Amino acid sequence: MRPTNPVFTGINTTVFETMSRLAMAHNAVNLGQGFPDVDGPMDIRQVAADALLDEPNQYPPMLGLPELRQAVADANKRFYGLDVDPAAEVLVTSGATEALADCIFALVSPGDEVVLIEPLYDCYLPLVRQAGGIPKRVRVRPPEWKLDPAELRAAFSDRTKAILINNPMNPTAKVFSDAELELIASLCCEHDAFAICDEVYEHLVFDGQKHRPLMAYKGMRNRSVRIGSAGKTFSLTGWKVGYITGGAKLIDPIAKAHQWVTFTTPPNLQKAVAFGLSKDDAYYEDLAGDLMNKRDRMAKGLRSLGFSVLPCDATYFLTCGFDGLGLGETDIEACETLVKEAGVAAVPVSAFYGENAPVEYIRFCFCKKDEVIDEALARLSVFVAAAGAESA
Ligand code: PMP
Ligand code: GLN
Repeated sequence: MRPTNPVFTGINTTVFETMSRLAMAHNAVNLGQGFPDVDGPMDIRQVAADALLDEPNQYPPMLGLPELRQAVADANKRFYGLDVDPAAEVLVTSGATEALADCIFALVSPGDEVVLIEPLYDCYLPLVRQAGGIPKRVRVRPPEWKLDPAELRAAFSDRTKAILINNPMNPTAKVFSDAELELIASLCCEHDAFAICDEVYEHLVFDGQKHRPLMAYKGMRNRSVRIGSAGKTFSLTGWKVGYITGGAKLIDPIAKAHQWVTFTTPPNLQKAVAFGLSKDDAYYEDLAGDLMNKRDRMAKGLRSLGFSVLPCDATYFLTCGFDGLGLGETDIEACETLVKEAGVAAVPVSAFYGENAPVEYIRFCFCKKDEVIDEALARLSVFVAAAGAESA
């Protein structure tokens, strides 16, 4: 048989699917793959259900339902003061994952360099490689995950076509500082590079902080595209509805990529997401507030068990060290021990790196009911106590 495409051949199944399968097999509390265990607002789901029954279920417009494009433009104005033309500067996709693929395929040509910040969401590297791009990786390091200006500057060159940045960042739960974003913006302008901004966690930001889109920085309006996800904003991850905002000159080729990837997204879900985006401020405040309480509940419990919990400013993930807890030497070992022996699934942070990954951290997802968090903590407590007794 002829070889199949090496970009996709012989690589691992995504760690999220792998851990969810293991969680199921071992009847574990699943704090691995990131998804809420309570579905998003009933009124949004009702709009989707009604539209499914009462309205056409045929191909909607390729760029997305006009009412959703308008809602995305309105949200850009409302939250970030960005003026966006819904007819030419918004594209609806089947999830942020499709949006990422469309943006990378449309903006990156073979041989172009793409700056990526590690740890990175696991689809970035294969998508850049499939486009023929050359990844230039820069690392942020725990516990603060700060971007080193000199390292970032060194990653840019005359061949840099784009930077792909995830802010707020999975799995680090980092919110990029104003100074970091300014530096990224100035390097993009200096090197005439695009910015692909994965901002799916834009509304899951804590402690009174506000999300700052890179697109709002000087010189970035027409060289950036920003990606949102209804899955995250409305706790409906299975819907896979995403949206891209960007200058018309970028949205045009990105829409051409989209037309050969999915072409459209289910119309009833689009209609419901348009409704969701118009929800009042209280919805968005409660979403972040509830998650922040869960973060604190989980972090306190993990700390009391001896995990070293890193700061978490956003997203629904906590990363922590597990040294001295009897879980094993590496993050992969630790996650295997946890899922099989403690009955709790987590995700190894090394899965978010290309190579030479650090192996000291695991990620727990905390967008779960309080009783589920408590059950996971109770299971971990039993395991840690038993491991401690064994080694004593
Ligand atoms: N980007 C990041 C950083 C993510 O964590 C996720 C997780 N789902 C996605 C993109 C994909 O979002 P979607 O489910 O809308 O495709
Ligand atoms: N983004 C989710 C996470 O980080 C997973 C999404 C997926 O499974 N593809 O856990």
